[in-house]
Order: sequence, then structure tokens, then C-alpha cells
Amino acid sequence: MKQLSILGSTGSIGVSTLEIVAAHPDRFRIIGLTAGKNLDLLASQIKQFSPRIAAVALQEDVPRLKQLCEGLDVKIVGGVEGLIEAATAEETDMVVAAIVGAAGLIPTAAAIRAGKDIALANKEILVTAGHLFMEMVNEYGVKLYPVDSEHSAIFQSLEGHRNKDINKIILTASGGPFLNTSLDQLASVNVQDALNHPNWSMGRKITIDSATMMNKGLEVIEAHWLFNAPMEKISINIHPQSIIHSMVEYIDGCVIAQLGTPDMKAPIAYALSYPERIATGIQPLDLTTLSGLTFFKPDMEKFRCLGLAYRAIQEGESMPAVMNAANEIAVDAFLKAQIGFLQIARIIESTMDTHKAHGLNTIEEVLQADQWGRTTARDICKRLGN
Ligand code: NAD
Ligand code: MG
Repeated sequence: MKQLSILGSTGSIGVSTLEIVAAHPDRFRIIGLTAGKNLDLLASQIKQFSPRIAAVALQEDVPRLKQLCEGLDVKIVGGVEGLIEAATAEETDMVVAAIVGAAGLIPTAAAIRAGKDIALANKEILVTAGHLFMEMVNEYGVKLYPVDSEHSAIFQSLEGHRNKDINKIILTASGGPFLNTSLDQLASVNVQDALNHPNWSMGRKITIDSATMMNKGLEVIEAHWLFNAPMEKISINIHPQSIIHSMVEYIDGCVIAQLGTPDMKAPIAYALSYPERIATGIQPLDLTTLSGLTFFKPDMEKFRCLGLAYRAIQEGESMPAVMNAANEIAVDAFLKAQIGFLQIARIIESTMDTHKAHGLNTIEEVLQADQWGRTTARDICKRLGN
């Protein structure tokens, strides 16, 4: 029996994880659940999965959650300390890191320090603090399993192979809802257009990241840290059908890919059950019904966020954390219809232009750079709004 705590159980990844857990009660048991603001959903998850501990991000939400869970045998805690308590609960073997954004840094770091294996969805953790996280994973001897579909595909394509035999990692990208939208048209797209992803159903922030293709930029950085791969060895192929989830090309010219129906339950299940495979209920792939698989290079002029992600990792040190923070602020402003779609990249770029990269030696220093990026991006947003 594997005992799990889920950071972000009410989100898209959290809910899919719980569907897998519900289908395999003989394999998994829930020890801890945590959420941001959706107390009603968290309460119904507590009723269904009987965790020993549940945490909400805000201390002030604790009394209401306690009320919703009256009569249930669960310890309810709140604030960052509460998230840490759920992530480090003694019986927990593995923590599913599925909070969105830099808010996941502290509880995930605490889980690693407590010796928990990690199923990692929260890519922003590696973008902002990849060097520190990979060091911690080594130091505490924990396992880190990718949940992001591309990284799960790479992980699967690397099995049984040596890292030194890799010639190239090829990340596939759907291209999002605006793959065929012109740069001129992009100036006037609205939130609904951007949330309308062709292949994947996901949380709001990552769906906007997919529309700007910042998501692929974040994923290149994620792959760089996860697989210890230099940036020059990671390339991006637009593959609108999202059937091949990524590939590894070896020095002998052979390419190994992982294919499947686009459904996050597949990579989540593999991270939870590795090295075994378990049923997910996903529709098997019928290759004979596919009209074709196509691949091409991304348009860097249209999707400027991609270039910004490459620039951030080249400048290194605190720059990726600042870029990530500016992106979180800009995406939030776009979702609130305070700025236009093309202003997302402008705000990130201006924030990066204002920043002088410096070394980050602790998670606290990463959070300071993150705060600096947020404040600066908010100021730039305000100026653009006037
Ligand atoms: P989501 O917005 O649906 O869910 C986020 C979860 O985090 C929710 O439970 C929310 O309550 C919680 N949360 C948000 N802010 C919080 C805070 N400040 N403190 C504590 N908890 C907080 O997001 P998602 O789509 O499930 O994505 C989660 C992570 O997984 C992201 O980093 C995303 O990039 C990554 N990811 C998601 C998908 C997908 O298909 N959804 C695919 C690959 C990677
Ligand atoms: Mg992905």
C-alpha cells in the first residue's frame, strides 16, 4: 500500500490523481490533502478519501472547513505551516506536488527534506529553483517522478538507456489554441479564446501558458533540470495532434517516443505506480483512425514567451525565478481582462530587462527574487493599464 499526500488536491491534476486512487483502493491510501480556496470540493474529497490530515492555504479558512467536515475524523490545519504538516505526515510515502506556481516551493521542499518521494506536476518549482531542488533530491535520497506528460514520455523513452548516449531530447507541443492565429489577430483575442485548448483539459494558468507557449518554455527548463540535459540538446517540435508526448534521439540515430491518447491520468498513474503499470481507463490509441501525425518548428516571433524562457535560462541565476513570477502576474492580469494577450510577453520582457541576475543559494532567496519579480511586474501592468 502506497500512502499519499496531495498538494493541490482540488486542481485539475489533484482531481485526476484522486480518480486513479479511487480506482485502485488496494494500492493507494490518502494521508494528506491540501487546497487553496475551494473548500467545498476539499470537504467532499475528505468525505470520500478519509485523509488523516487536510490543509487549506489560508489560516482564516480553517473554521469554515472544520464546519464543513463536522463529525469526520480528520485533523484540519491551515497556512503554509499546515501545508507543510500535510506534506510531511509521518505515514506518507509519496507527495504529489500539484500546486500551481511558486506557491508550491515551500511545502514541496519540506516534503523532500522529510524523505518523501515526489510525483512532480508543479513545473514552476524546477523553473525557479531547479539547481536547489535537484541538489535536495540527491542529498535526501528521494525519488522524483515527472507528471508533466512530455517529461513522463522522456522518462519512459530513457528507461534502459544511458544519459551519455542521448543526442537530443525532442519535446512536443500542441501549439495551443492560437497555432493558426495570425500575430495581428492575437492582439484582440479574449480570455475565452485563450482558455479553449484543443487537446488538453487543464487548470486556467497552465491553459493560458499553453496559449502563449510559455508552457513549453517552462517545460524546456524543467527538462534541463530533470534530465541534466544542456539546453542545446533540447528542441521543440510542434505536433498539433498531441499523440507523441515527446521523444529521445540517441547517438546511433534511433529515436524512442511515447505515444498515447492525450489524458493526464496516464503520466500521473505511471508516477504513482512506477515501475509497474496500472489500469487508467484511458481509451487505447487506434492508430488506424488517426488522419496523420505532423511536426514543425515553432514560430518564435509569434510566441515570444518561448524566446524569453530561453533567455532566462541563458542568463541563469535569479532570472528564471523572476521570469516565472512576472509570468504568473501577467497571466493573472490577462485572466482578469486587465491586459491584452500580447501584453503578457511584454510585461515579462520588461520585468526581465529591469532585473540584474544574481545567485540564489537558498529557497528563501528564491522566494525573495520571486517577490521582486511580482512587485516589478505588477508596477509594469499598472503602467500599461493607464
Ligand atoms: P489548478 O489551478 O487546476 O490547481 C491548482 C491547485 O493548487 C488547486 O488545488 C489549488 O487550490 C491549489 N493552489 C493554488 N494556489 C495555491 C496556494 N497559494 N497555496 C496552496 N494551494 C494552492 O492547476 P493544475 O492544472 O492542476 O496544475 C497544477 C500544476 O501542474 C501546475 O504547475 C501545472 O503547470 C502542472 N501541470 C498541469 C497539467 C494539467 O493537465 N492540468 C499538465 C502538466 C503540468
Ligand atoms: Mg506538459
